[in-house]
Amino acid sequence: MTLLFSLIALPYAPNALEPVISQETIEYHHGKHLQTYVDNLNKLVVGTEYENMPLEQIVAKSQGAIFNNAGQILNHNLYFLQFSSTAANNHKPKGTILEAINRDFGSFEAFKAEFEQKGVTLFGSGWVWLSSDKDGKLVITQEPNAGNPVTKGLKPLLTMDVWEHAYYIDYRNRRAAHLQALWQIINWEEIESRYNQ
Ligand code: MN
Repeated sequence: MTLLFSLIALPYAPNALEPVISQETIEYHHGKHLQTYVDNLNKLVVGTEYENMPLEQIVAKSQGAIFNNAGQILNHNLYFLQFSSTAANNHKPKGTILEAINRDFGSFEAFKAEFEQKGVTLFGSGWVWLSSDKDGKLVITQEPNAGNPVTKGLKPLLTMDVWEHAYYIDYRNRRAAHLQALWQIINWEEIESRYNQ
């Protein structure tokens, strides 16, 4: 029997991220784009070695259409679950994740500047990632298309989606403005818990 992949539920209301991300963008990005990747993967894995495999393992082992759809599901799950309402009070890093940022980038401001720069300069569609390596050191990487740092042996912590579908309704072509605004809704308690896992 095939294990079906399913669309994650969002831990906030569809308008909770406004004005940084509009309800309309959430409805398209989560409700239509992500749903399509889930539907595609469920069709593609039938009868293959991937049909009962956890998502991270599929991403680490597969190629082609299965990799693209599994990667996009894993990427979007990490993306949507890293946000909290604009009204929440967890939008600044503290504790072990702040210590690691200061150690590996010098300061939170320097980290944000490098992260935004890597998002702006990624050519075409893809994702910019903060990950940790096996020693807990933090690194920022650019991944094209459906790429995820698990394929490099890294643990993904935080990501920004630079596919145009992530920002075109709200920001049109202004990718840099979109990336800069996203810091207002990052749930750093979630990022720290991924780091400490
Ligand atoms: Mn996306």
